[in-house]
Amino acid sequence: MQIEPQAFDRVLSSMCTEPHPAARDAAERFLATNPGDPGTYPNVSALEDDAVALLGEIAGLDDPAGYITSGGTEANIQAVRIARERTDSRTPNVVMPESGHFSFQKAADLLGVELRIVPTDDRHRADLEAVRASVDENTALVVGVAGTTEYGRVDPIPALGEIAHSADAMLHVDAAWGGFVLPFTDYEWHFGHAAVDTMTIDPHKMGQAAVPSGGLLVRSPDLLDELAVDTPYLESTSQATLTGTRSGAGVASAVAAIEELWPAGYRSQYIRSQNNAEWLADALEKRGYRVADPTLPLVAADVPRSTFDALRAKGWRISRTATGELRVVCMPHVTREMLASFVGDLDRLEVR
Ligand code: PLP
Repeated sequence: MQIEPQAFDRVLSSMCTEPHPAARDAAERFLATNPGDPGTYPNVSALEDDAVALLGEIAGLDDPAGYITSGGTEANIQAVRIARERTDSRTPNVVMPESGHFSFQKAADLLGVELRIVPTDDRHRADLEAVRASVDENTALVVGVAGTTEYGRVDPIPALGEIAHSADAMLHVDAAWGGFVLPFTDYEWHFGHAAVDTMTIDPHKMGQAAVPSGGLLVRSPDLLDELAVDTPYLESTSQATLTGTRSGAGVASAVAAIEELWPAGYRSQYIRSQNNAEWLADALEKRGYRVADPTLPLVAADVPRSTFDALRAKGWRISRTATGELRVVCMPHVTREMLASFVGDLDRLEVR
């Protein structure tokens, strides 16, 4: 095989990162296990219980239930599926701010629910009035994002919970990216802060686990029952996951990373990443670009298309928001030296 995996030294757009060495090692050891068949692979199944317990601790959930998914997309689809199963409505809808991840569009398509996308306010957070106006007796789920993909913003989760529950709908929090940094901030985002029913929180993003390792948490185990199907040919009798065979590597690496890093390692990583984001925002502002305040370690700035393309041509892996701003995600592999080199390239491009 000739092709090498992507090196991380110029990757500024990814929500994933280099796994922690302990996570990499655990992934390798559990590569040939299948937590989808817990009767046959009981060890990895026990590890999955540990993973869910650890995720519950991070997300403020006593008595946690859930499972390790293939990623945030699967967790979001499953959350919509639970809500659809729970509602009495025959024409259910899901209300989500426009900052919600595109995985909810997949969920809506697959599950035949209407997705009502509402605007965000001038700080890129869910507009509560717009959410209130969109919710009705057919609303099965309200989605709040805790760490948005484009601007790293946290929606007002307690207020969204009140709106959801006054309409007899469920509240899902998508903390796929934010879940491993938010414990070190003042945001109200988790099960202990609001009446959250389900949550996405992905070890393979800020959690520094190996891909594929997403997380679905549910307030109580009966919510998982909404997903369960009978499994006649397996040693176990039912399965709540979307995929059948799945990666034990993701499960084991999640446990290894969290045991290694929670909480002190994640805290110092958050501080490092946040400082880097603020440094970059500052550097871009000084050069005259309009920058969205990096409230979490993610920077968005209105760098012109031609400059963006020239930076990409220099090998920088960068991406753009829906409205065309450059976005840089300060993941654990993103160092100050990388950012300084990026800004150096930007300066050289501007001179020409
Ligand atoms: N939710 C949020 C907020 C995300 O940022 C992402 C991906 O970046 C997802 C969900 C989807 O996660 P995945 O790509 O692991 O399926």
